[in-house]
Amino acid sequence: MDHIATPAPGVLLSSGPYERIVAGLRDAVETMSGLDPDAVLTAPPVIAREVLETAGYIRSFPQLVGSVHSFRGSKRDWRALAGREDWHRSQEISDLMLLPAACYHVYPQVAGRSVPVSRFCVHATCFRQEATGERGRMRSFRMSELVFLGPPADCLAWRDGWIERMASWLRGLGLDVSVELADDPFFGPGDHLMRDTQREQQLKWEMRVPVGGGVVQAIASCNLHLDHFGGAFGFTTDGGPAHSACVAFGLDRIALALIERHGREPDAVSRCLREKEGTRT
Ligand code: ATP
Ligand code: ZN
Repeated sequence: MDHIATPAPGVLLSSGPYERIVAGLRDAVETMSGLDPDAVLTAPPVIAREVLETAGYIRSFPQLVGSVHSFRGSKRDWRALAGREDWHRSQEISDLMLLPAACYHVYPQVAGRSVPVSRFCVHATCFRQEATGERGRMRSFRMSELVFLGPPADCLAWRDGWIERMASWLRGLGLDVSVELADDPFFGPGDHLMRDTQREQQLKWEMRVPVGGGVVQAIASCNLHLDHFGGAFGFTTDGGPAHSACVAFGLDRIALALIERHGREPDAVSRCLREKEGTRT
């Protein structure tokens, strides 16, 4: 019930039992969010290029970005290329990019508005052009995120609450979690000085867990963005700049960690998820 490789490294097929674990995790995230179904969104794997440009993602993580290109020439232009190995040399960048994280679909929804405290849950298939040698480091993977927008103190309290809650939920699933401060938040790794400031501000916490083959990966993260997205997309709260925070569940990595912990017997993992369901950690 593991992954099945394809000709593209880091692009994996999953079997029925594995997919049931992922579906169980999605349900668990929704239950924990406590949100109305209307605030639970499922995103496509692409996003408008201008959103990632506005969000600063391309500047911060140029090496991870995946873009959608298409052919806009005439039939005649195509005839000159058809059948050639470099058929793609006239492909041009389009208005779409591959989605690198679920929460990027939320910020344009509130652009230019004054938002009361707002919460969302977003499920998505994400893409990052990663070096994929490691177990659990894929190029296409599933992520579910909870997003909070509002005044600075509320965002901080929500994010901090989730560090505890996430760790205790994962431990309740039998996982051996270590909660660690990370220094590559949404603004990118930056230079040494920026990295030190980011560490001091404690913007990103990761839950690290063994995912098999002796590899430990971050299976979830709790992030505070300050006014980074509020500033970029122009959303405000109480007449001041809104802050934002997000909590990301790396569904494929959590599934791998559960299989590593409970074995390849699908029932053991499903039972463990069922037992947790509805128990609002
Ligand atoms: P890493 O430090 O491992 O590169 P990240 O800090 O870039 O991860 P986030 O941007 O916080 O990760 O993404 C949220 C979650 O999505 C991660 O905690 C992880 O579980 C999952 N994730 C991120 N990148 C990948 C990937 N390449 N393959 C599988 N899951 C991933
Ligand atoms: Zn996010």
